[in-house]
Amino acid sequence: MTNEFFEQLHADPDELTRIFRRDAIMFYAEHLIEQNVPFTFAILDIDNFKLVNDNYGHQMGDEVLKIVAKSLQKETDGKGFVGRYGGDEFIFVFPYLVDYDTVWKILFRVLKSGTRLEFSESSINISYTMGCSRFPENTTNIDELFTLADKALYRGKVKGRNCFIIYLPEKHANIALQTFREKVYSPIHLHAKIFNILTNEKRSVDENIKQAIDFVGPYLLIDHLCIEDKDGLRHEYFQPLFKDRVYAPFGVESVVEYVSDNGVFYENTVIGSKHLESKLYKSFVEQGIYAEFICILRAYGKVFGILRADMVSVDTGRIWQNEDLVLLENLANIMSMALYIDSLKK
Ligand code: GH3
Ligand code: MG
Repeated sequence: MTNEFFEQLHADPDELTRIFRRDAIMFYAEHLIEQNVPFTFAILDIDNFKLVNDNYGHQMGDEVLKIVAKSLQKETDGKGFVGRYGGDEFIFVFPYLVDYDTVWKILFRVLKSGTRLEFSESSINISYTMGCSRFPENTTNIDELFTLADKALYRGKVKGRNCFIIYLPEKHANIALQTFREKVYSPIHLHAKIFNILTNEKRSVDENIKQAIDFVGPYLLIDHLCIEDKDGLRHEYFQPLFKDRVYAPFGVESVVEYVSDNGVFYENTVIGSKHLESKLYKSFVEQGIYAEFICILRAYGKVFGILRADMVSVDTGRIWQNEDLVLLENLANIMSMALYIDSLKK
């Protein structure tokens, strides 16, 4: 590749990060295809980047993107090129490096370059998920190459993030990018579906709640989801693996003192942990629960019980992702209203 070629690509960099823009890096990949040069095409997406914006502001988010871009460029130096695809997504092209073990080592290094950024008053964990595909082994079409890398990336996100996936047709060909789980997380679909279930006047509120729990349960990577009211546990959803476990109720009273203003308690999330010394935390550790979400079901001063979700497995160390928390809070809010309306009828 001539210097002139690269000068052209560099002439108009991404405004924020000063690395290649999307069209430059994609143009380079297409150029390699034309020249029949084998290469690896990788997409990197920062994990839970929205939280950086939400917790520290958009400006801090921009600073982080600049730092990340610089660091990724350093990691690829001498091996290939990186460009910003847009948002928190980056694209890598590694010419001539297509052997599985070599690709594995390169991506592993990039993954490990994720870090904890310390600022004067706070620190931010930066981890990445990556997916890659290879030319010409996987396909000879640039759009398809992107889609396959995207499928691998998606697989990595579902697996729990902070990892990379090298696309292998025998493992990943069947991944649909827009899965039902994703659609359920699209806020409009989610809200509407839960709302419809919980406001169905043809069934009792009890039956509606049961259906809502059964609907949401399978779409969370959790082990146990239930409602607790003054009479104890009711309407439980279990992952099939955990259906023989016995869960003791926490009791609404033991929870109340730990919840935030909006009636929510959670432990071991992407945002962190804060109740590790509490009695409540100890009681869920005793039950073998690793991460916990609780939301008080209440409306206009009336308390109806709690919505509780447990992640049991200590081995995998799974924590709550932001979208899980949003989903559960949505469920609890609509459920509270349904219970309130029902209480007026009685
Ligand atoms: P995930 O682990 O699933 O990737 O979670 P995420 O929070 O990183 O979600 P996603 O990648 O879908 O969202 C990226 C977010 O990046 C969305 C948007 O708020 C933010 N973002 C996009 N472009 C910019 C930018 O130029 N500056 C800043 N500060 N934020 C941006
Ligand atoms: Mg992201």
